[in-house]
Amino acid sequence: MSKSIKIAVVGSGYVGLVAAVCFAELGHQVICVDNDQRKVDALRGGDTLIHEEHLPELLARHGNKGVVFTTDLAEATAQAAAIFIAVGTPQSETGDADLSYVEAVASEIARHVDSYKVIVEKSTVPVYTNEWIRRVIERNGVSREMFDVVSNPEFLREGTAVEDFLHPDRIVVGADSERAAKVLGDIYSPLTEGTYYKTAEPIPGICTEDAPAPILFTSTKSAEIIKHASNAFLAVKISFINAVSNLCEAADANVEQVSRGIGLDSRIGPKFLRPGIGYGGSCFPKDVAAFRSVAEQMGVDFNLLTEVERINATQKKRFLAKVRSALWTLRGKRLAVLGLAFKGETDDIRESPAIDLCEMLLGEGCQLVAYDPAAIERAKLELPPSAQMQYADSVEGAAKDADALLVLTDWAEFKSIDLEMLQRTLRYPIVIDGRNMFDPKTMSEAGFTYLSVGRPVAN
Ligand code: NAD
Repeated sequence: MSKSIKIAVVGSGYVGLVAAVCFAELGHQVICVDNDQRKVDALRGGDTLIHEEHLPELLARHGNKGVVFTTDLAEATAQAAAIFIAVGTPQSETGDADLSYVEAVASEIARHVDSYKVIVEKSTVPVYTNEWIRRVIERNGVSREMFDVVSNPEFLREGTAVEDFLHPDRIVVGADSERAAKVLGDIYSPLTEGTYYKTAEPIPGICTEDAPAPILFTSTKSAEIIKHASNAFLAVKISFINAVSNLCEAADANVEQVSRGIGLDSRIGPKFLRPGIGYGGSCFPKDVAAFRSVAEQMGVDFNLLTEVERINATQKKRFLAKVRSALWTLRGKRLAVLGLAFKGETDDIRESPAIDLCEMLLGEGCQLVAYDPAAIERAKLELPPSAQMQYADSVEGAAKDADALLVLTDWAEFKSIDLEMLQRTLRYPIVIDGRNMFDPKTMSEAGFTYLSVGRPVAN
């Protein structure tokens, strides 16, 4: 039987909330702290506030029991053995990570440490943050033997966050003291020893038969670099296949075949080799920029990352050029937009390439009617409804009388769109697909002019 540990999680966003309910699912007692009273009230009432599969079930199972929600960090610090900091680390104007939220939380924790605490960086932070947190806590009068700071980066993906948390590819714990490493080892033991998978009351749709999750103990600095290097490497893969897709377009080759041919090499692997309109989201753009900036500050040449960013920005411009190539002039064209979230199965629109493209198209004078299964309310804050920017509550509503349909987010449900309905609804049967959701031959046979990324136009 694993030990139940008192845990505080600071921040109840995509990472903090998922971590909090999943720790409760593993049998720990969790206090989830947020300084946004509105969020705390909603969470207490059972509303997750974000669209994430399995989160409502887990919140219903553990909310106000295994996990309680509060704004009171002082009380949470006093009670918890381990305090996970999961607040935002957005990009600052210089490209660095803005660590002011992390610093604010660290100073506040310091004011309430009354027994040994493990303070855990869950947020994505640059190397050396650990030392800064340590310094801030000491400066606030806490002696060195009263606490440790550990790096435990999070690798979950939005859209499959609960599944990822409970079935991680690996758990990384960067700890410079054995005492702190043991606390983290105990917290994750239901996953690393596999006991959770045998005892859990199944959550419908989540696999409970699994092999124990690997746990990797490293130095704090290595753990910090592992997180940035992982995200930067995934961004490299995406920009690489996007550059290859551009070459495929020029050579009339098919990037899908090329990507399969590359990915079958076990040294490379098939994942993250899907071309599109570029990566986005709250992590890759800021983490690539922060990693590049850290390297620069340390005198290390990492220009590879500058090129990755350049290719990513170019990918959106290429898509716009494709729209123009299909429609000639853009001013006054009515376009159906499918997808606003930065990727499918989430309502997150932070740094979404779909939002960027909408802005570019609005700038060209297009009229847009957008549909997204979950992200419309968030999108309205970035792109307020107007005569030029409208929202529909279905694919059909967006497609009605549009001059063309653009696919900007890879929502799984878009794959099963009724093509006959599209034919009937669109003004012209033109589909420009930035996510390669459809088969070019099927689209051509169904009578569409169909453009996608890195694949020849079928005749
Ligand atoms: P988020 O913006 O969704 O959530 C952050 C939360 O912290 C908000 O609810 C905010 O109200 C709260 N907060 C801010 N300051 C606070 C304070 N002083 N006290 C208490 N609460 C405070 O952010 P997120 O997407 O969950 O990301 C959090 C961190 O995790 C970031 O560093 C991010 O890079 C990293 N990360 C994110 C993902 C992801 O997919 N979103 C994945 C891995 C790692």
